[in-house]
Amino acid sequence: MRLKLPANISPHVGEKLLNPVLNSGDLSRARQLFDKIPEPNLHSWANLISAYTKQNLPNEAVKLYFLFRKQNIQLPDRILLLSAAKACAAYADLTKAKEIHEDAVRFGYLSDLTLGNALINMYGKCKCCDGAQSVFNELPVKDVISWTSLLSSYVNCGFLGEALQAFCKMGLNGLRPNAVTLSSILPACSVMKCLNLGRQIHGYAVKDGFGENAFVTSALVDMYASCSCLADAQLVFDNMLVRDIVSWNVIVSAYFLNGESERALSRFGKMRKQGVPINYDSWNTVIGGCVQNGENTLALELLVQMQDEGFKPNHITITSALPACSNLESLRKGKEIHAYIFRNKIFTDITTTTALVYMYAKCGELELSSQIFNIMPRKDAVAWNTIIIANAMHGRGEEALLLFRNMLISGVKPNSITFTGVLSGCSHSKLVDEGLQVFHSMRSHLIEPDADHYSSLVDILSRAGCLDEAYGYIQRMPMKPTAGAWGALLGGCRVYKNVDLARIAAKHLFEIEPDNPGNYVLLSNIFVEGKLWNEASMYRKIMEQKQISKPPGCSWIQVKNKVHTFIAGDKSNEQSEKISKFLMDISNKVRLAGYLPNTDFVLQDLDQEEKEEVLCSHSEKLAVAFGLLNLKGESSIRVFKNLRICGDCHNFIKFAAKVVGIQIIVRDSLRFHHFKEGLCSCRDFW
Ligand code: ZN
Ligand code: ZN
Repeated sequence: MRLKLPANISPHVGEKLLNPVLNSGDLSRARQLFDKIPEPNLHSWANLISAYTKQNLPNEAVKLYFLFRKQNIQLPDRILLLSAAKACAAYADLTKAKEIHEDAVRFGYLSDLTLGNALINMYGKCKCCDGAQSVFNELPVKDVISWTSLLSSYVNCGFLGEALQAFCKMGLNGLRPNAVTLSSILPACSVMKCLNLGRQIHGYAVKDGFGENAFVTSALVDMYASCSCLADAQLVFDNMLVRDIVSWNVIVSAYFLNGESERALSRFGKMRKQGVPINYDSWNTVIGGCVQNGENTLALELLVQMQDEGFKPNHITITSALPACSNLESLRKGKEIHAYIFRNKIFTDITTTTALVYMYAKCGELELSSQIFNIMPRKDAVAWNTIIIANAMHGRGEEALLLFRNMLISGVKPNSITFTGVLSGCSHSKLVDEGLQVFHSMRSHLIEPDADHYSSLVDILSRAGCLDEAYGYIQRMPMKPTAGAWGALLGGCRVYKNVDLARIAAKHLFEIEPDNPGNYVLLSNIFVEGKLWNEASMYRKIMEQKQISKPPGCSWIQVKNKVHTFIAGDKSNEQSEKISKFLMDISNKVRLAGYLPNTDFVLQDLDQEEKEEVLCSHSEKLAVAFGLLNLKGESSIRVFKNLRICGDCHNFIKFAAKVVGIQIIVRDSLRFHHFKEGLCSCRDFW
């Protein structure tokens, strides 16, 4: 329909024309019409803003409000401000929120209860508790909604103690909570594991007649499950009058939360049997629950099943399923999901995109991971942390540092995890001065270094051979030094042959982790290298007595859709003969290129179990050979290993990459190695 309007249409007539179009839900037509009204009245502005918010376009709604303000023809009234505050709550933009709040102050609506409540809620959604608190304080009269909005803001910002306090204060002020208050405060009890308060709230809910409210009861089930009271959770659930899909989801999640995947899945089956219409949230709960409980393969199977039953995975499904690909290091499956997102133009929020960034990095594709990160329109702390950690685990310490600086420039506040990432980047790349500088800058960002940060620092110093300095930091740690810190020092002692310090580090390690075979092996190797045979054999004997042994070296590679696993000396692979031949052949070639099989190096840098492996049959060599044999026009292969890569294999693969002219990526238990043209990204230091 073409819209022909006379130029002198009055605002009132404009509103009358606009309303039916808005009611029909056709926003684009409504906007067309609105733009043709010469001077829309306040009602028309407010109605259109609300319509945008309702149709999940809060950014357009907020834009429209600021267009109104820019035109500066009329002053906003409380209804218009109310619509703007609601829009901004949905949009969650703090800068805009502050401007809307200022407008409310400027035009004298600060004591308006309804508007005030909306402003508190808006600040809460923007995760700005100070803003919410200041609006709350200014309100001369506060009702239950004001209190509920305030405590929800606290919950939303993670200030759970404050939320619980506000809840108690509300009671002291003689106000009785409503169902929204209860279902808002219960999640705080869940996270804080305040079982007592949770039970009190339960009693209160029953007494005041909210015991049958679906939101309240679902929150109760969740609270009991979080406090590990599965029986209570089940009881509340069983007593529910109406069990909707939400409550079913909560009980299924409850079992997942307590690590009971099987019972969770049986509930899921029961729910389907009872004919509860399964929606996306069930599927998403079950897939996410499986991933949380380490059932990664099952999660991906359910993803397929879901599609078979006609459900198209949405962005939440994708965000739940991507970590399964990361955990399984299944690049193929991850790429499939990425392609699915692309094909179906699925709305990807910051969490989904960050999951993609992590998946590619974990599967060895740092380039793709960086590309996706770079095109992210908005990057929060989690996204920055992910790309920093990705670079750190691929041994790109300089890049991790650069990204960290860019993060600071972009104005995103670093958190404790950011520093863990940057420091581990420094340790993998031997950046001692930089690492120390980053560590000492933490307090200027108001972050107290924790045990992990100290361990990373000790690692940085130990790898660089500054063993005394590293030991000094351990002694000055304000908390009990962890196995990570002592382990890093012990590792340094081996490389730099410091037997005395090794004894000290090992003594502490044996106290903290008496059954970790790695520590005994490491210490006994240090003694072997120092020709202290008696002590070496003593620790071997202790290991035998304690019957602790190291898991065998194991490498795997995905070719097409199948994962092929190799253990040392493995001849079970169907291509085993071809692999041996290929290895012989390539051994000759790499020898010509300068490779020398170095058993000395193996002795120095290997654990005893691996020493016993015959060099040529190491699992990582077998997997690499298999990958090279089954190349289908690809320019790189990815191999994963459960233990550290051995020094000889490292050298061998460097030369092999040069001879065959393709990139070989190996992820061992510590980090990624990118072998290309005779060099490794770790610069032979890992
Ligand atoms: Zn090896
Ligand atoms: Zn390397």
